[in-house]
Amino acid sequence: MKIGCPTEIKPQEYRVGITPNAAREAASHGHEVIVQQGAGLGAGFSDEDYTAAGARIAATAEEIWAEAEMIVKVKEPQAVERKQLSRGQLLFTYLHLAPDPEQTQDLIESGATCIAYETVTDARGGLPLLAPMSEVAGRLAPQMGAWSLQKANGGRGVLMGGVPGVGPANVVVLGGGVVGTHAARIAAGMGADVTVLDRSLPRLRQLDETFGSLFKNRYSTEGAVAELLAEADMVIGAVLIPGAAAPKLVSRAQLGTMKPGAVLVDVAIDQGGCFETSKATTHQDPVYTVDGIQHYCVANMPGAVPRSSTLALGNATLPFLLALAGKGWRVACAEDPHLQAGLNVHDGQITNAAVARALNLPL
Ligand code: NAD
Repeated sequence: MKIGCPTEIKPQEYRVGITPNAAREAASHGHEVIVQQGAGLGAGFSDEDYTAAGARIAATAEEIWAEAEMIVKVKEPQAVERKQLSRGQLLFTYLHLAPDPEQTQDLIESGATCIAYETVTDARGGLPLLAPMSEVAGRLAPQMGAWSLQKANGGRGVLMGGVPGVGPANVVVLGGGVVGTHAARIAAGMGADVTVLDRSLPRLRQLDETFGSLFKNRYSTEGAVAELLAEADMVIGAVLIPGAAAPKLVSRAQLGTMKPGAVLVDVAIDQGGCFETSKATTHQDPVYTVDGIQHYCVANMPGAVPRSSTLALGNATLPFLLALAGKGWRVACAEDPHLQAGLNVHDGQITNAAVARALNLPL
């Protein structure tokens, strides 16, 4: 199959859909991989890395959209890209159609077959193509929080790991899912005193069994949050209620109970945020202060580390990419219900029940 990978054109997007290693695997399976000139530069991959892996470099995106049977990307196709999608072409990327009727209409009209990373499932009920980005955001959260805790950056001037004779920072993680677990591991690895709160007792048992005394855990109630808030140097928001806006776990009034210069890192900001005072920020201007409390609320945290994010996403997408290219999407989806769950649009029809429901469109 001819697999094409254009340069991402969404502002501030530096990731790339295919890594040189993925291109090498696809080429060794007999596929032709075409990568747009410079597509990998933002993630630190040169055109030479791709040609050495057996890919061909195309000068323009137009060539790729015109030639490739399957397009592999990171972000949803932008309007100018959607115009170039053709009937029968296969698109494999993040789509996030539910809040995006305009994109959905264009994909329907294109007649293309569109498989969305975010709705591919796995046997344990997880979302294997979303998980790598949650892992990245979770591991990044204490790093950004630690930077914000520094005095010159407006913080309390507290060192995560303390030093001999001086205690460490106190870090509270709200939500012990993928983001929260990775955040807790890194914060504990930096030497902080970490407590994870979750509403799920099975999840808390699992954390306890897996991580032992590396970090503490508590059942998440309003009382427990209020109690821990007063002691915290950093609070990381990592809760998710699937399909719903994030619950507000810290009110503005509660900021007054916190230590001045403490930091809130709201990873759940892409679902509206779990602190009342959160509003989405960008990598250019990531932190603002409310009532003396620092807020870091970047909605696309993985964008800060496009190389690591591209590699992590590439590892997760590769088996699906090879199945789609090797068997064709019909057979690949028929054989794998988890990949089938990723099919969002085909031949002018929505094929995913949740997306159809969200947009009030027929299946
Ligand atoms: P997850 O489903 O793996 O974990 C969420 C956890 O929150 C679950 O364990 C759940 O039991 C817990 N929870 C729900 N309500 C709670 C409450 N009231 N108190 C305590 N815990 C509660 O989800 P995830 O993959 O870890 O994602 C977490 C959030 O991070 C999501 O909103 C996701 O969209 C977001 N995210 C943001 C970025 C970013 O760049 N900002 C990147 C990746 C993920």
